[in-house]
Amino acid sequence: MAWQTDRRTMFKLAGGGAMALATPQIMVRAAHAQTANTAEPGNPGFHSFALGDFRITSILDGGRASDGPHPIFGQDQEASAVAELMEQNFLPPNRFVNGFTPVIVDTGAERILFDTGLGEGGRQNGLGQLRERMQQMGYQPDDIDIVVLTHFHGDHIGGLMEGGEPAFANARYVAGQAEYDFWTAPERAEGQTADAASAVQEKVVPLAEDMTFLDDGGEVVPGITAMAAFGHTPGHMIFHVESGDRRLMLTADTANHFVASLQRPDWHVQFDMDKDAATATRRRVFDMIAADRVPFIGYHMPFPGVGFIEPVDQGYRFVPASYQFDV
Ligand SMILES: [Zn+2]
Repeated sequence: MAWQTDRRTMFKLAGGGAMALATPQIMVRAAHAQTANTAEPGNPGFHSFALGDFRITSILDGGRASDGPHPIFGQDQEASAVAELMEQNFLPPNRFVNGFTPVIVDTGAERILFDTGLGEGGRQNGLGQLRERMQQMGYQPDDIDIVVLTHFHGDHIGGLMEGGEPAFANARYVAGQAEYDFWTAPERAEGQTADAASAVQEKVVPLAEDMTFLDDGGEVVPGITAMAAFGHTPGHMIFHVESGDRRLMLTADTANHFVASLQRPDWHVQFDMDKDAATATRRRVFDMIAADRVPFIGYHMPFPGVGFIEPVDQGYRFVPASYQFDV
């Protein structure tokens, strides 16, 4: 019930956010990417903070440098427009790093892992490090009580299995009903969706009997509620986390580059399966987060992925968290 009230409040406040967006503002650029997407000395690959009675830990599964962000981001734009935006933001024009950030929410009663990284398939490229890093910070894979899947792309489901066995032996699972139905439909086994659907058959379907399926507004545990955020995939879900008077949104893949997707939310993204729905969802979700001034963790934001949203110009600025959770 608390969520119902919160959500109404968020939607109401989102109207104020839209008005704020229309207000001319000086363009403030995202000059602070917190840390590199690599686990160097001094960057252990995990980051932990308290949220009310919960403990939140983001874990870097790994970072991957590649050409881009164009045309992955700004697929419908000229390469030069994307390069120019990167340079304005002190980023290289033609190279970028994509990071992968699963999150553990420890409620005291249960340890809940949101997404599983790339798993064993990513390790030869330095990815798939969730398992090792969670142990470095004191969580054994067997300690995980619930694994929540925001959606079924490979960088989120890849760590579900280890050597053909469930990687989190004592866990039950939670996933979106629409996402499961989409990827397991027989027609997905062919054409453009064939590879991803085959990974779902390998990693997700064997766990289905221990899986609970949620729709919009569904509760994972008290204080953690699902919200439909369709577009990136047909059943993409994000999660509202609340403990005491503290709140946090886990936005998963609603925005996947902290500059390209947030400063230009309307730009098409190659990995968004429905471009228009993904854009509408991006604006709806980040308008709410901006209006409510709630922190969020984005799966592909610069590690540790925790930040706030300021409406600017035609989009938003990612404001990395600093000591907000320490006082
Ligand atoms: Zn992803």
